[in-house]
Amino acid sequence: MSEPKKLFIKTYGCQMNVYDSERMAEALGGQGYVETQSADDADMILLNTCHIREKAAEKVYSELGRFKGLKAEKPDLKIGVAGCVAQAEGEEIMRRQPLVDLVVGPQSYHRLPEMEAKTRQGAKALDTDFPEEDKFEQLKKRPKAKRGPTAFLTVQEGCDKFCAFCVVPYTRGAEVSRPVDRILNEARDLVERGVREITLLGQNVNAYHGAGPAGDMTLAQLIWQLDKIDGLERIRFTTSHPNDMGDDLIEAHGTCDKLMPYLHLPVQSGSDRILKRMNRSHTAESYLRLIERIRAARPDILMSGDFIVGFPEESEADFQATLNLVEEVKYGYAYSFKYSTRPGTPAAERPQVDLAEADDRLQRLQALITRDQRSVQDSMVGREVKVLFEKPGRLPGQMGGKSDYLHAVHVDDADVEIGDLRRVRIVDSAANSLRGVLA
Ligand code: SAM
Ligand code: SF4
Repeated sequence: MSEPKKLFIKTYGCQMNVYDSERMAEALGGQGYVETQSADDADMILLNTCHIREKAAEKVYSELGRFKGLKAEKPDLKIGVAGCVAQAEGEEIMRRQPLVDLVVGPQSYHRLPEMEAKTRQGAKALDTDFPEEDKFEQLKKRPKAKRGPTAFLTVQEGCDKFCAFCVVPYTRGAEVSRPVDRILNEARDLVERGVREITLLGQNVNAYHGAGPAGDMTLAQLIWQLDKIDGLERIRFTTSHPNDMGDDLIEAHGTCDKLMPYLHLPVQSGSDRILKRMNRSHTAESYLRLIERIRAARPDILMSGDFIVGFPEESEADFQATLNLVEEVKYGYAYSFKYSTRPGTPAAERPQVDLAEADDRLQRLQALITRDQRSVQDSMVGREVKVLFEKPGRLPGQMGGKSDYLHAVHVDDADVEIGDLRRVRIVDSAANSLRGVLA
């Protein structure tokens, strides 16, 4: 038998890319590839890129440049670029970096095996179409190998909202939901392989409206279907848009035991003037009222969010409104970014905020978020939480996992296995994790 070929995938960006990378590795598994953790011994290198951050494309070009030596030593090495930078740059990538053999956009991964075969014949392969067929259905079925207790499952892709700062509608295309039966089959398959927690993914996951046996289902209806799967203990979903938070989803947070008390609900800004310019179609007030309703359904829910500071024309007063909103919500987690221009998006053309000013605002916002994050985490001390154990901790005998609220929890000298879901009493809170003892 010939040696398996080795595939090195480097994944950038969001969880949807992590999921896509797994599926690409499985698809190329059918071509005789096994994954390797090192680019040096790879027969194929795939960069699964993200276009959200500043100078994303430039960073990909400089990463590609580093493979020059490897390719010179090993002329059969194939180099591919996948993900949102591949979609945005297309052919330009091969023009600027001739060592690239393959460029594949996020909607065309199911065509990877054919594309790989083409590169083996010495040709270049490019596919950045938005094809009609469901790439996930076309991809090779997930193999039955045992896997860790947590998994991602993409249920929805793309976005029709066109926030003025964002490239997603251009790189991931229009909003599409996968049919219910395919998601349920994939979820059952994951559970058979040892998965106990599934995070449903989508750019706007709560806009989900996939075809079910009797018409389209909402995300809440899909969650209730997943709830019936024996052995699946926890359900999460991300990322949600405030405008798609339906009544049934809010209610499910109060009534579905498997749905975890954690909600990532980005608001981006606390200023209505800026929200309008961002084309967010919600106000700070409507967002706050929404959180009130969610907390009425599930009082202990941990809220998480995203913020952009220094959006074009953001004044100090607008920024203060963001700080006020953060004070009011008290996030358990929040991610804040300095606005960066994305060519082709409407905001790129508008008057930009002074960079030093934006840096200063980012620091002030992050200080406030860190304070709240820490106080929410500290409030867990003395409480009993459920922990799903995922991996050994850094110290000998230690095991680590996540609480229902997504806090990292370590337990010393505990008699637990990976995949166990156990009650833990929290005894201490450190910078980024909690320590507990089995209850
Ligand atoms: N769909 C989600 C929503 O509407 O909240 C967010 C998806 S986006 C991939 C993830 C986050 O990246 C956004 O919530 C936003 O805070 C940030 N982001 C997107 N474009 C950005 C830009 N041009 N500059 C800075 N941050 C940006
Ligand atoms: Fe981007 Fe989210 Fe706005 Fe869609 S809703 S354009 S993904 S930030």
